Amino acid sequence: MTPEGGAAGGRFEAIRAFIGAHERFLLVTHMGPDGDGLLSCIAFARYLESLGKKATVAAEGPPPSFVFPYDPEGTVRTHTELLAAPGWAERFDAVLALDTGKPSRLGKLGVPVVESGLPVGVIDHHIPEEGDFDGPSAIDKRAASVGEMLADFLDEEGGAAFGDPLILRLLFATIVYDTGQFRFSNTTEKTLRWAARFVELGASPTEPFGVFWESNSPSSVKLQGHLMSRLHLECGGRLAWFSLSKAELERFGVRREETEEYITFPRSISTVEIIAFFSELDGRVRVSLRSKGRVEIHDVAQRFGGGGHAFASGARVAGGLDEITATVIAALTEKLRASLGPD
Ligand code: AMP
Repeated sequence: MTPEGGAAGGRFEAIRAFIGAHERFLLVTHMGPDGDGLLSCIAFARYLESLGKKATVAAEGPPPSFVFPYDPEGTVRTHTELLAAPGWAERFDAVLALDTGKPSRLGKLGVPVVESGLPVGVIDHHIPEEGDFDGPSAIDKRAASVGEMLADFLDEEGGAAFGDPLILRLLFATIVYDTGQFRFSNTTEKTLRWAARFVELGASPTEPFGVFWESNSPSSVKLQGHLMSRLHLECGGRLAWFSLSKAELERFGVRREETEEYITFPRSISTVEIIAFFSELDGRVRVSLRSKGRVEIHDVAQRFGGGGHAFASGARVAGGLDEITATVIAALTEKLRASLGPD
């Protein structure tokens, strides 16, 4: 039984068969790995190993600092470490992509995974898109996090995995992270039931808050203050946006991963419906979009080659910071007015 009392369904049939048919898994998640994707990979790798299978987690770039308390054995490999070994793909007979089904979202692991010819299974909660991996998958747009889906799956498998304290902590952390501490519109009754069950089984209710929201450098908080002091409010205060150049990021000496939560702050303004954060990369701009839940922004992200969820989406767009900012703000203004009326 799942925690909301529903019987086990067929949602995981294809993934269950995929797992049964393979022994040596590579687990990957999207670039800029976050508290859902990467921690889900670590949890699922532990589960696969408990079945006597082999499982390696790899992510683009060095692991973000939130991983360390959740990966005491340092199991996560960087893409460079993984790909440096000649014939790297021969070590595996399958790939599992978690928290994305889109090859390009795997960043520097995308092309090698596709070219390896290894079969790819997907467990994801994003809105499916054309060009996604077309192998076995479990996709649930209503799931608060991939970790919540894994919890359902592991429960269907008998729940023995919940006897591993690290798996409990990991899955609980994915839920807390992806719901922004149960505040975002993806939080459901099921999410809260899972959270309660994990805490009942031994997960600390406060640990994820400390890891994700109380571990920043002083410079990061100062940079956030700097960006908020020039927050733009448009469309009668319904659209809030801010942008960050590479030079500013460097000047403040802040790691990019520390900027992930900045977009949450303008939600506290009562009039705000949509928030956009533009962050300059090399020759591209990372566009992050959030909605409080009245206006879907996924289609706007898609127009710029991105995707995500109905109310939390993103894209990486080629071009300069000012130019891309202006173009995306125009699209968001149009969308906001079409959805909620004139300012
Ligand atoms: P971000 O603002 O980068 O945190 O992304 C918000 C959500 O949109 C996350 O669930 C991402 O996985 C998703 N997302 C971001 N960029 C893209 C993209 N280029 N394509 C598809 N999904 C994306």
